[in-house]
Amino acid sequence: MSHTDYSRTDFGRNPLMFYYEVTMACDLVCKHCRASAQENPHPEELTHEQSKMLLDQVATFPRRPMIVMTGGDPLKRADVFELIRHAVAQRLQVALTPSATPLATFEAFQQAREAGVRRLGISLDGADAQTHDAFRGWEGSFERTLGMLENARRLKMAVQVNTTVTRRNVHQIDAMAELLAKQEIAMWAVFFLVPVGRGVEEERIRPQEYEEVFERLWHHAQTKPYSVKTTEAPHYRRFVLQRGGDPLAGPQGKDDSPAQSGTDAERWSMGTLGGHRAPLGVGDGKGIMFVGHTGEIYPAGFLPLKCGRFPDDSVVDVYRNHATFRALRDPDGFKGRCGLCEYRHVCGGSRARAYAVTGDPLETEPDCIYVPGQDPPPEL
Ligand code: SF4
Repeated sequence: MSHTDYSRTDFGRNPLMFYYEVTMACDLVCKHCRASAQENPHPEELTHEQSKMLLDQVATFPRRPMIVMTGGDPLKRADVFELIRHAVAQRLQVALTPSATPLATFEAFQQAREAGVRRLGISLDGADAQTHDAFRGWEGSFERTLGMLENARRLKMAVQVNTTVTRRNVHQIDAMAELLAKQEIAMWAVFFLVPVGRGVEEERIRPQEYEEVFERLWHHAQTKPYSVKTTEAPHYRRFVLQRGGDPLAGPQGKDDSPAQSGTDAERWSMGTLGGHRAPLGVGDGKGIMFVGHTGEIYPAGFLPLKCGRFPDDSVVDVYRNHATFRALRDPDGFKGRCGLCEYRHVCGGSRARAYAVTGDPLETEPDCIYVPGQDPPPEL
C-alpha cells in the first residue's frame, strides 16, 4: 500500500494529512510564524469536547489521514495528551509539533509517546545559534532545540525537522544538512517561505535561488541518512523529475523506522514512497487540510482562504465539495504558466504563495522559473 495507490478519486475524497491547530497560544514570537501566535489561548478556541468531536469526524474519512497537532505550541494546551489518546482510540495516527519552550521537556515527550504520538516535528532554522536564535527571537532557542532532539533520540521517537528557508539562512543549507546527519532524524522537511503571518515578503528567496537550493537538497536526499521533502515548493518534484529521479522516494536502502511500518499517510509524509514515475502531487487542499484553533477550515495552514467552520460545517463535506478545495485539486484550471505546464499534475506550484503574492490561489507560482515546453518530462 502506498501513496501512489491514491487515485485522483481518492484524493478527492480523503486528505492524507490533516493539520489541527489545537491552540494559537505559544510563548515564542518567531519571525516567520504562520499563526502569528499569541501568549494566551483565544477565548473561542475549540473546547475539549469540540476537539474530540472534530477528531471523531476526521476518523470518518474512509482512508484516515494522519493528524498533525500543531499550534501555536500544542503543549500549551492542557488537554493535549488526552486529545492524542482520543485520536489514537479512533485509529488515527498522530504527529505533534512542540515549540522550543520550557514545556518541551523529556517528560512531556515521554507522555506524548505514551499517549501514542508517532512522530515529533521540531523546528530548526539555522546551523548555528546566532542564525537560529535570530529567527526565533530569543537567545538559547538553538541549544534548547538540540536538547529536544536529544530527548527524542533517547525516547526513540521518530523526528521530522522542519526548516523554513529564507534570505537569512539560505547560505546554510549544506551546514544544516551536515548538522542533521548527526541527529538520527527520519526526515528533513524544508519549508519555503509564504509571505503570510510574520513571514514577511522581504525574507523570501529569489526564484533562481530555489533551483540552487533544490540542487543541494537533491544531493543531500541521495547521500544523507534521512529523507528530504519540501513544503510549499512542489516544483522540487519538477526539478527531481528533470534529473531522472523519483521525487517521492528516499535514498536506496534508507530506513525510516520506527515509522517504517506506518500507514499510507505516515509513509507518504516520511517521504519513503515512490518507485512510480508519475505520482500525484500533494498540495494545498489536495491531500492536505487545516483546521484552525477556533474551528476555521482551510485548504492549508499557509492558505488563509476560509472554507467553513467546524462544528457548523463538516470537514468531510468541505474537503470533498467546497468549490475552493475542488479548484485547488484541478491543475487544468490553473492560470498562467502553471495551467499550461506539463508538470502541473505532479507539481502545480504553491497555491498558498500564488495567493499570498497575487491574491488568486489559481495563479502561476511566482517563485518558479520553469517555462512550459522548455524541458517536458519523458513519461508523465
Ligand atoms: S510552472 Fe507551475 S506547475 Fe510548472 S513546474 Fe513551475 S510551479 Fe510547477
